[in-house]
Amino acid sequence: MSQPEVQISRLREDIQNYDYYYYIMDEPLISDSEYDQLMQELIRLEKLHPQLITSDSPTQRVGGRPLPKFNSIQHRQPLLSLENAFNEGDLKEFHRRVGRLSASADYITELKIDGVSVALVYEHGVLINAATRGDGLTGEDITANIRTIKTLPLRLRQPIPRLEVRGEVYMPKSEFVRLNQEKEEKGERIFANPRNAAAGSLRQLNAAITASRALSAFIYDILYIEGTALNTQQEALEFLREQGFPVNREARFCAGIDEILAYCTEYNDLRHELPYEIDGVVIKLNQFADREKLGFTAKSPRWAIAYKFPAEEKETRLLDVAINVGRTGIIAPTAILEPVSLAGTTVSRASLHNFDLVRDKDIRIGDIVLMHKAGDIIPEVIKSFPEKRTGNEIIIVPPTNCPSCNSPVMRPDGEVAWRCENINCPARLKESLIFFASRTAMDIDGLGPAIIDQLVEKGLVTKIEDLYQLKVEQLQTLERSGEKSAANIIKAIDNSKNRPLSRLITALGIRHVGAKTARILTAHLSTIEEFLSVQEEYLINIPEVGTKMAESIVSFFAQPRNRETIDGLIAAGVNTAEERVVEGKKPLAGRTLVLTGTLSTLTRQEAGEKFEALGGKVSSSVSKKTDYVVVGEDPGSKYDKAVELGLTILDETQFLELIKGEE
Ligand code: NAD
Repeated sequence: MSQPEVQISRLREDIQNYDYYYYIMDEPLISDSEYDQLMQELIRLEKLHPQLITSDSPTQRVGGRPLPKFNSIQHRQPLLSLENAFNEGDLKEFHRRVGRLSASADYITELKIDGVSVALVYEHGVLINAATRGDGLTGEDITANIRTIKTLPLRLRQPIPRLEVRGEVYMPKSEFVRLNQEKEEKGERIFANPRNAAAGSLRQLNAAITASRALSAFIYDILYIEGTALNTQQEALEFLREQGFPVNREARFCAGIDEILAYCTEYNDLRHELPYEIDGVVIKLNQFADREKLGFTAKSPRWAIAYKFPAEEKETRLLDVAINVGRTGIIAPTAILEPVSLAGTTVSRASLHNFDLVRDKDIRIGDIVLMHKAGDIIPEVIKSFPEKRTGNEIIIVPPTNCPSCNSPVMRPDGEVAWRCENINCPARLKESLIFFASRTAMDIDGLGPAIIDQLVEKGLVTKIEDLYQLKVEQLQTLERSGEKSAANIIKAIDNSKNRPLSRLITALGIRHVGAKTARILTAHLSTIEEFLSVQEEYLINIPEVGTKMAESIVSFFAQPRNRETIDGLIAAGVNTAEERVVEGKKPLAGRTLVLTGTLSTLTRQEAGEKFEALGGKVSSSVSKKTDYVVVGEDPGSKYDKAVELGLTILDETQFLELIKGEE
């Protein structure tokens, strides 16, 4: 093989491998900018040696491949990718090329949402199927998953005979942070960025998992329409909005290249303020007649281009690694960095998540590392530069003993995390107290990390139950705690004694038991004594409880130290009973529901009864006060009214999920 042949084939092999991890596993091995550089190099070499271009080269094909575990859906129109522009020169070149064939220089610029491309098909105004882009020709059938996304309409405002649209499903930055925190606490692998998190959440055989992640979507293209003539992208976006689709509000009409460049600069600055991640701007010719003249290549339309923002990556030095002990005992390494300004803030610390990741990325103390922000928020070390080492770098290994209490650390089977198992560990105690006092748990106003830190440091609190023995005078001795605030905190601690048992169960921080599970459990076990003696077999019979959770609950209550805490809490007068569900206390109490159309698995009457059994009220008319409108086949005007009022509209599957979640 000639030199270029070798280079090209090596690049193709590497890119195909990275594609596999990115599109199929949702677990990228390298950063997008590193990937883009490889792709640009391949494009450059193929341009120089066009005789070496093959139809299976990554430059000629649309990214992913549908997973066989899903049914596949053939796209009527291929879902193509976009050509990329990386700088002003690329954009000007695109504008020049377009100008040769197009009659006008009118464009629409849209934000390039960093999510998963999907195609939705509506017949007579009703969503009938939804697919991922896949390889552009065939996608995965994700209809059930798409139905769980509340912002996407299941029924359009008008019964358009057939409409096929394309858009991007994304995970808001806040949900990405929440989900990764949850995964980290469970010792699971975290998602690299919101795009992979959205893809991983959407491509689930169990749509209930998709439903539990707050995904959202923007629709930006019409792939096919019957019965309505549209001439421009501007009209198309307006039409989509009128039909009830979520359409991004930042799209703008641009006359010519200067306005395009201004838009790109403006949003490169604004991107950090948006609640969702964008990785660039998509520039599209506005007039459909002009688009036809330009046509498509095998991979992308010639009338559009994606401008990719410069990667926000910076090099800095890893000065040290701090070991943090979390509430559940997870021992996590944190990078202490030479401060560096990154995506709008100065970064001097970053979680390294777990020791496997540190080993896989070969990160050492003293290394020059490349930093970015995952999801535009979380500072993260992308990689180290072994070639820049001096030889004095220190390899990072998990500690054998907890840095706070010195007990040996362990690694439970199947987990990536190492843990300190000593529940009296002061570092764990601080985190446990912060969690105990938090909003979702005992909700103790004013008892935040700064106060807790001092309480533990001064030995005023050595175990959770000590909180209830604290005196105003003791709190007053702490920094930043005057007489009044000390009294308020004591009052808040006292008030927390009256919280329902489900909150106390949440507050204890049992692994795998969050607030929702705690509520499910307390519907079956209504006193703490029942928890203390419960058997795994009993727990497993509760539909939402799996073996892992059951094991964790039983083992938690079996530990003498935890039993002492419970005794201490009882002695302090903390409520340890859940009031039996009575009218007005049921999970859906105060909620109203309106049903319209025919449901397929149950009658409206049955649906209403299920809702009422959980404390809700069924009403026959829609108003601003209606909480949910359940829509079946052939709904009446109630549906239109619900859309008009912007109410929460559920289809049958979503309704059943709602009921199941609260039963
Ligand atoms: P792309 O990301 O360059 O752009 C095309 C995509 O943009 C479309 O498919 C569409 O889904 C999306 N999009 C978002 N907003 C849009 C809008 N308003 N209008 C139209 N389209 C919009 O191309 P791609 O083929 O989806 O993915 C390739 C990119 O994925 C690479 O450039 C790289 O950044 C990333 N990637 C990374 C790795 C890795 O290992 N890190 C591997 C493969 C791909």
